[in-house]
Amino acid sequence: MFTSFSGRSVVVTGASRGIGKGIARAFTQAGANVLITARNQEELDHTAAELSDLPGEVTTLAVDVSQRAQCDRMVAVAEERHGGLDVLCANAGIFPSFDLANMRSEELDHVMRVNFQGTVFAVQAAIPLLERSRRGRVVVTSSITGSITGFHGWTAYGASKAAQMGFIRTAALELASKRITINAVQPGNVRTEGLDGMGQDYLDQMTAAIPLGKLGTVDDIGHAALFFASDEASFITGQGLVVDGGQVLPESADAFG
Ligand code: NAP
Repeated sequence: MFTSFSGRSVVVTGASRGIGKGIARAFTQAGANVLITARNQEELDHTAAELSDLPGEVTTLAVDVSQRAQCDRMVAVAEERHGGLDVLCANAGIFPSFDLANMRSEELDHVMRVNFQGTVFAVQAAIPLLERSRRGRVVVTSSITGSITGFHGWTAYGASKAAQMGFIRTAALELASKRITINAVQPGNVRTEGLDGMGQDYLDQMTAAIPLGKLGTVDDIGHAALFFASDEASFITGQGLVVDGGQVLPESADAFG
């Protein structure tokens, strides 16, 4: 489909499993050189081996996005290995659940630090190389939660995901003169290791709330990220794309007729 990504340099954060792995697979399948990052090196190695038969090249680096210095190093390594950076997929995230009345300050800080500040740090680190690319792209993994919907236990998570949407709108303006676009995919419920950790009751409840009658796959999100990064999407910036099987649409139970 669309552009060939052959030879383009891509970094994906939180790519050792789940949605990040799906995004990395989409870009590697399209021929890109992809640096996959997360904290656990062993899991990254396993994922890199899984993707090794695809047309693009995959390499790994252990990175904690909540540390700005590690984001700087991530971008420097992408330049060393692939000669620059064309696409940053800021995907790393966590979704712990806290009861609002009892949520501790450190718990709130941790979610914001990884999900929101981690996104900002990765983007800040990438700006010089994305500008040099002349076709720089940032694709953020936000969520329907917080930006559109709410769910018990996710005040902190939802706020961090809504914050990403607020961030991209002004970032898009500041980055436009550098020919960098920044957009967000807003997934609904996508079957990942992280989502499986919510338990079978949660998965059943969510499947029942999706008009298309199934959870999303990580490849569904990978294809949306690939679209935002394509040359054909070069006039789109500061926007979100909901990929949720219609979950945010129903006004009543009739939708599930
Ligand atoms: P997941 O299966 O738990 O995977 C999370 C990934 O992020 C892992 O690679 C993890 O590796 C990495 N990560 C966690 N903390 C990190 C940190 N501090 N620095 C760098 N990497 C870190 O989760 P997922 O379901 O794929 O979710 C990925 C993204 O999609 C998140 O931003 C999430 O909010 C968003 N999302 C998911 C869904 C869904 O239904 N699954 C829906 C909407 C939005 P390490 O633990 O080794 O670091």
